[in-house]
Amino acid sequence: MQTVCYACGATGTNPLTARCGCGEPRWISSTAADFDWNSVVNNPGLWRYRSLLPSGSFGGISDAAGGTPLLRAPELDDDLGARVHLKHEGSHPTGTFKDRGTAVGIAYAKREGIEAVATVSHGNMARSVAAHATAVDLSCTVLVPDDIPDERLAPIAQFDPRILRVKGDYGRLYYAALDAGRQRDVAVLNSDVPLRIAGQKTVALEICESLAPDGPDAVVLPASSGGNASAIWKGFRELLAADVLEELPRLYLTQTAACSPIVDAFDAGFDRVDPVSNADDTVAYSIANADPPSGSRALAAVRATGGAAVAVPDASILEAQRTLAHRAGIAVEPSSATVLAGARRFAAQDAFHPDESVVLVATGRGTVDSTRTTSQAVETIGMDSLGANLAVS
Ligand SMILES: *Cc1c(COP(=O)(O)O)cnc(C)c1O
Ligand SMILES: [Zn+2]
Repeated sequence: MQTVCYACGATGTNPLTARCGCGEPRWISSTAADFDWNSVVNNPGLWRYRSLLPSGSFGGISDAAGGTPLLRAPELDDDLGARVHLKHEGSHPTGTFKDRGTAVGIAYAKREGIEAVATVSHGNMARSVAAHATAVDLSCTVLVPDDIPDERLAPIAQFDPRILRVKGDYGRLYYAALDAGRQRDVAVLNSDVPLRIAGQKTVALEICESLAPDGPDAVVLPASSGGNASAIWKGFRELLAADVLEELPRLYLTQTAACSPIVDAFDAGFDRVDPVSNADDTVAYSIANADPPSGSRALAAVRATGGAAVAVPDASILEAQRTLAHRAGIAVEPSSATVLAGARRFAAQDAFHPDESVVLVATGRGTVDSTRTTSQAVETIGMDSLGANLAVS
């Protein structure tokens, strides 16, 4: 299996090696020559693209990765001045697109006889890796910051991994864990490892299949580590190379204003993303990576496709979260709602045209916050006035 660096072109062979000698991340080579539409039969979820993946399904929960619906959302067309679609990644078993990368990574570990996996995360990725690992009886270690409150760990702990609090700089832990894993034969499935990128690129393939023969004009997604943006870029590049697409869709990234290193670099006209040291609290904490390992690659994706990047404040994120629920019937988590908040900004800059298909990637499903009261007053009525009350006035 060959890995290659998007930036300098250097190659390697171990898909658990995330970094190139030049410092940038690697991804797994798969080429137009590998593309086999005949393999797209009777395989569940993302495994229909088996010919473009480094590993095959191990059954069980992994068969539920990918195959998410692309929903038309005409109620949002006027807001964005385009034909709006939502890619409903929240319909995954653990609620986010992370299950795509996890399924491919775990399948690889299983096939190679690796007995243990690990990840550096205290959120959606940890939950995804723990769930997939336990289902195939792999040992799983989740590395979290030492100051994380216990209640944030409960959603991870339900899948019974070993959770370790680690003292020290959490940004550095990302790389330290990858190194330690390679020495101890543990597959460390962090956010931008090549195996994860390979799994997550399938969202681009699915979007194109859903919209065939035209393909999307623009895709909007939230970025944190930059891994998912890299993966989607890779998926579209492979389709372009296979002449399935005539041109790359424009990629638009959204971040939270509390922590926006990729947007800062975009605005400044830089080619490289620098870490931010002053990140604030935000409702979109699952996308608040201050030192994104694939930040520069995500930025390259934006530039190469003629897209843009924007940061949005918490108030707009919460408004967008309500709008997606009220008008599209989709509950998303705040980090995921940044796509609509950001898309409104892009639309205000005339980024989209009315005859274009714009896909908002709804990366993660919302959970009900029972501490929040409903936004409308709930009336109490007698059963004898049921008819009058049910009638639409
Ligand atoms: C992980 C995550 C993101 C960010 O993806 P990256 O690959 O880290 O850029 C966005 N939304 C949700 C719901 C996530 O879980
Ligand atoms: Zn390189």
